[in-house]
Amino acid sequence: MSNAIVIVGGGVSGITSAYLLSKSKGNSVTVVAKHMPGDYDIEYASPFAGANVLPMNLDADSRWERRTWPEFEWLCRNVPEAGFHFKNCRVFRNHKDLVPGTSSLPMDPLFDLDPWYQHMMPDYRELETSELPPGQDSGCSFTSVCMNTPMYLSWLVGQCLRNGVVFKRAVLSELTEARRLSHTGRPADIIVNATGLGALRLGGVRDTAMAPARGQIVLVRNDGPSMLTTSGVDDGSDEVLYMMQRAAGGGTVIGGTYDIGNWESQPCPNIAARIMSRAVRLDPALAGGKGVAGLDVVRHAVGLRPYRKGGVRIERETLRDGADGTGVHVVHNYGHAGWGYQGSFGCAERVVELVNEIRAANGEDLSKEPT
Ligand code: FAD
Repeated sequence: MSNAIVIVGGGVSGITSAYLLSKSKGNSVTVVAKHMPGDYDIEYASPFAGANVLPMNLDADSRWERRTWPEFEWLCRNVPEAGFHFKNCRVFRNHKDLVPGTSSLPMDPLFDLDPWYQHMMPDYRELETSELPPGQDSGCSFTSVCMNTPMYLSWLVGQCLRNGVVFKRAVLSELTEARRLSHTGRPADIIVNATGLGALRLGGVRDTAMAPARGQIVLVRNDGPSMLTTSGVDDGSDEVLYMMQRAAGGGTVIGGTYDIGNWESQPCPNIAARIMSRAVRLDPALAGGKGVAGLDVVRHAVGLRPYRKGGVRIERETLRDGADGTGVHVVHNYGHAGWGYQGSFGCAERVVELVNEIRAANGEDLSKEPT
């Protein structure tokens, strides 16, 4: 009899976990979630991401990004319908931002002068002084990818359906309620918790290390040759500057903000004005040299990144099911802040390892598993 696994969460973390778990014929996977691909809601971060790959994990725990990059590169080369394309990326550093203590956040390794990811990202090189925009002290260039996230999420759902995953809508008050939601009709053997920011309020979890990192963006029709980002901006430490061109006509996402603790779901017009003016100052060609007036806006939007103080939580736990007192195996996979896509495969692989540990402890011989 197969393992009944219920994954709670229909964002990139839950669906990538479902995709990898469903590759094993020993697993019957159900995904339950309040929000699914196609929805736009402030409680659902995944559709608001660009998303591109700008490595930002520390070297010590960068397994998540190190394992995801080859998968994305492969998808980009071989699976056009997944909605990826390769793009040049330029990361600019203003050296005053690199002084420790200038930000309340830990230093972002993306802006390191000798970054670990120089050996991972293709075509990495330091920029010549002549290639720097005004106000920037140094920078690097490399090839990355940018995906069209609504398209990629739909593609992932399609891969899961092909592997027999069943998707259901449900709003849970307690994580252990998932035990009764497997499409097999049997109680779930294992629950995977991929509820993102929902982990703050979900019964059985209530992780108070979780907080929103509010991201306001502007989506425009304008196109540019490179994805750009800077180490800081002069408008406060809650604001950031980046732009990325989504694949397959998805438009250019201009950001933004990284405002921890701010739950505001509506775009602020003043912030929007600052986002657009910073973008055209950094890259006048984006708007054909016409300034903000040259930007062709599709929409303004806000997403809440699932930030977790202390970092992502990927681990096993046994919870008591309040209904009958049974111990339930849980694997957590939440708290990816601003890197949920670029770490998605690495994290989901760890979920598979933890699920396999539970299966082995239950006496299953995984070497005999049909593939
Ligand atoms: P979510 O997408 O939030 O999904 C959570 C799921 O859990 C939803 O389906 C929700 O309905 C469900 N859920 C929660 N509580 C319950 C409950 N009680 N009952 C039932 N279901 C529940 N990442 C990158 O890698 N690259 C980028 O370039 C990038 N850019 C970003 C730009 C912006 C503006 C934002 C906002 C984010 C960006 N991110 C980026 C971060 C990325 O979007 C997130 O890390 C990622 O989407 C988190 O996915 P998730 O599946 O963990 O959470």
